[in-house]
Amino acid sequence: MDTAHSITMEKIVSLCKRRGFVFQSSEVYGGQAGAWDYGPIGIELKNNIQRAWWKEMTQLHDNIVGLDAAILMHPRVWEASGHVENFTDPLVDCKKCKARFRADQIDPGLLAQKKCPECGGELTDTRKFNLMFKTHIGPAEDTASVIYLRPETAQGIYVNYKNIIQSNRMKIPFGIAQVGKAFRNEIVTKNFIFRTCEFEQMEMQFFVKPGEDEKWFNYWRGERWNFYKKYGVRQEKLRWHQHGPDELAHYAKDAYDIEFEFPMGFRELEGVHNRTNYDLTRHTEFSGKDLQYIDQDNGAERYVPFIIETSAGLTRNVLMFLCDAYDEENVGAGDKPDWRTVLRFHPKIAPITVAVLPLFKKDGLSELAVDIRNGLRESFMTDYDEGGSIGKRYRRQDETGTPFCVTIDYQTKEDNTVTVRFRDSMEQIRVPRDELTAVINREISSYSRK
Ligand code: ATP
Repeated sequence: MDTAHSITMEKIVSLCKRRGFVFQSSEVYGGQAGAWDYGPIGIELKNNIQRAWWKEMTQLHDNIVGLDAAILMHPRVWEASGHVENFTDPLVDCKKCKARFRADQIDPGLLAQKKCPECGGELTDTRKFNLMFKTHIGPAEDTASVIYLRPETAQGIYVNYKNIIQSNRMKIPFGIAQVGKAFRNEIVTKNFIFRTCEFEQMEMQFFVKPGEDEKWFNYWRGERWNFYKKYGVRQEKLRWHQHGPDELAHYAKDAYDIEFEFPMGFRELEGVHNRTNYDLTRHTEFSGKDLQYIDQDNGAERYVPFIIETSAGLTRNVLMFLCDAYDEENVGAGDKPDWRTVLRFHPKIAPITVAVLPLFKKDGLSELAVDIRNGLRESFMTDYDEGGSIGKRYRRQDETGTPFCVTIDYQTKEDNTVTVRFRDSMEQIRVPRDELTAVINREISSYSRK
């Protein structure tokens, strides 16, 4: 493999900044660690991933409904969930170079000798560090006013489960889907947007009858894998990782992660967890409210449901789709190499679907192109570009992963046909203007990555 043209995190970070996917937060002040801003192209990508997930969950399953719970929740929630007590990482500091590490991520030999992996200096004892951001609500900063920024979206779903059963007449098995921000005071934030202090999650909690949990657990593992397949993620880049006994959360019966091969190796993308009846049992205990399900179709049988959770990072998915799409391709002829950077996004994920490009600005081609673009923008996210040579403009669109470019030239004026240029193959076809929307829709539906 040509290493100069293989994918690295540096290339992804640089492309993201150059083309307006992702910027460092507060960059003019030197940046804020663990926080990133999504630019004009990045927000389109993020929204598309979110919409694809939302559609998959709510529109394509009869028994899943949505929710948008508040980030700020009653502090007792986090006692019930176990986060106040257990949501900690083991932390060590180097007394010499002041570097900070997660004790579970450094070499056990060095840890035993209390030796810094960076400078060889002495490490402090391991301390437990809670990852929740704690702040105060109201004017008094006392213990009674403590409030947390939620470290996961799941708890908002559990505390609303009864409301949703009652308001929407849900019957088990059913699920609740939610997308939203979560905050964790991560000790080490690195690898760009992979691990950040502020991020977004896409979580679905599926409530089932005890005893049916294993069946549904397997079902959701299949569904989640197929989601990534459907949106064109290369299967060889994905794998399952089952949690061993030491990794399994105290409440979990079984857990599998879908891992993706990022430039730094295979890492967790999403978790599918069998959380048993732990969550609702704890909330029953802490709130004093009966959270049992009453099965009216079965002689008013009562039980605390088991929960199968699918928990994916939205922002981590953005990085995954970027890494999966990134390609550098030699399109030169013979001994004259010519490299293009191309993001091979699935057209339903690509930030811009269609770019409209007049071959020249003059002779009314710009006006005609604007008019054609106006006919497309109701159906597709479009871009318009008339600056620079057509070759350069194609390359610019390749770099942000636009699957279709529509070019307007002199022939368009004569016979009302345009050129459609395909990102992946760079092939071009001539299409009558009034068939453009149908042709693009057909190409989107039948897309498969070569
Ligand atoms: P880790 O052990 O790596 O800290 P986790 O197992 O605690 O992660 P979960 O609590 O299962 O992660 O979170 C579910 C999903 O949320 C993860 O699969 C990941 O995609 C995303 N996620 C978790 N923490 C972060 C973070 N700090 N930044 C970005 N995404 C995150």
